[in-house]
Amino acid sequence: MSKEGNKGIFDKEYSRRQFLKISGKGLAGVTLTAAMLSLFGCTQKEVDEGLVATTPLPTGLLVANRAKCVGCQRCETNCSLANDGKAMPYIGRLKMRDNLNVGEEGVAEDYRHGDGIYGVWNFGPTTCKQCKDPKCVAACPVEAIFADPATGARTIDKEKCVGCGTCTNMCPWHMPVVDPETKKSTKCITCGACVAGCPTGALSIVDWKDIAVAM
Ligand code: SF4
Ligand code: SF4
Repeated sequence: MSKEGNKGIFDKEYSRRQFLKISGKGLAGVTLTAAMLSLFGCTQKEVDEGLVATTPLPTGLLVANRAKCVGCQRCETNCSLANDGKAMPYIGRLKMRDNLNVGEEGVAEDYRHGDGIYGVWNFGPTTCKQCKDPKCVAACPVEAIFADPATGARTIDKEKCVGCGTCTNMCPWHMPVVDPETKKSTKCITCGACVAGCPTGALSIVDWKDIAVAM
C-alpha cells in the first residue's frame, strides 16, 4: 500500500479513537473546529449547552442535535418503514425518548420495565452504540446476533431469532425490540433511514474519513 494510502487509514483510526472517547454522550465542554461545526451542522453555543450528542457507528458517527429535534418521532417511523415495510415507531431502532421511571427506588431508565409511579418522557436520541463487547450478542441464547462483515453493525439473523427478548433486557439501553407481530427482534443496522426521515435535519451520519479531514 502507498504511503498516502496508509496515512488515510491512520487518520481515520485516529479520528475514530478520539471520538470514541467523547461520543455516546453530549459534547458539552468540547471546543470544535469551524470545520467540525460545519460538518455536524451545529454552533459552538449549541455544543456548549449540551444540545449536541454523538454515537459511534461502525462506519462513522451519528450526530444528533437536540436543538433541532422537535420530538416528532418520524425517524422511528421511517426506520420501521425502511426495515420492516410498515409504520411502527415502537420497533424503530432509534429511540427518540428515554422513558425515565420515578419510583421509590429513584429514577430508573425505561418506564415500561420499571415499577415506579411516574413515567417521564424525555425526548432526545438514544441509539444502539454498536458495542465493542455487545451484551446483546453475548446474551442471545441461540447466537442470532452477529457483526455484519461489510459494515460491522451488530445484526440479527431473523431465521435464528426466537423472539425471547433477552437482547432487549441485556442491552443497557434496551435498544433491540421484539416486533409483536413477527415475534422477531429488531435493532439498528446503521442504514441511515432515521437521518433521511428527520424533517428538521437534527440527525446526521458523518463518515470517519470526513471527520479526519475536518480535524
Ligand atoms: S443493542 Fe445494545 S448491547 Fe447490542 S450492540 Fe447495541 S447498544 Fe450494544
Ligand atoms: S430475541 Fe432473538 S436476537 Fe434477541 S436474544 Fe432472543 S433469540 Fe436472540
